[in-house]
Amino acid sequence: MKYYILFGPPGAGKGTHAGAIAQKYNLKHISTGELLRAEIAAGTELGRQAKSLIDAGMLVPDAVVEGMIESAFDTIKGVDGFLLDGFPRNLAQAADLDKILEKRGEEVTAVVALMISDETIRKRIKGRALIEGRADDANDETISNRIRTYHAQTEPLKAYYQAAGKYYECDGDNGTIEDNRNRVLALVESIK
Ligand code: AMP
Repeated sequence: MKYYILFGPPGAGKGTHAGAIAQKYNLKHISTGELLRAEIAAGTELGRQAKSLIDAGMLVPDAVVEGMIESAFDTIKGVDGFLLDGFPRNLAQAADLDKILEKRGEEVTAVVALMISDETIRKRIKGRALIEGRADDANDETISNRIRTYHAQTEPLKAYYQAAGKYYECDGDNGTIEDNRNRVLALVESIK
């Protein structure tokens, strides 16, 4: 099985391009953010607990997202692998993912990173707020906190996966959506 991580700051285009990558390589796309939003929409206890953290631009507890990921690995069949989007988000989650995969005799295949500037993060999230109506996209303070959380907790994963020889990055900032999609598809193809 292949285990790709789609990496990058909020607004980098992970959700926008995940479908094309997943389809091309028969992968199941798993977005922890989408799974959490589904819990909120369904009004579950987990969703209620996650909502205040998400609305504040903070991370939900590692155990919550790791449980979601493990249960997806256990239950989803008939694919050639997984495309993880928004997970791992900090070094503890990355180390736990390594352990989860090791138990299954597997390992992370590659990290596919889309890079954009902080200025583009703000522009994209504000544009997306008008289209998708996400509560955490509409508030300037939440956006600032997510950018801070990204730099403090998520960005260090780049060095973690570089050290493992698994980190591949492309520009997600310039050109049209199609240009960016072609760039990320070419990057994944170069890894295979
Ligand atoms: P996303 O849709 O990936 O931008 O995620 C939206 C929000 O869900 C994030 O700002 C976090 O509050 C939460 N979230 C998503 N994935 C994770 C994760 N792997 N660890 C902790 N919190 C997460």
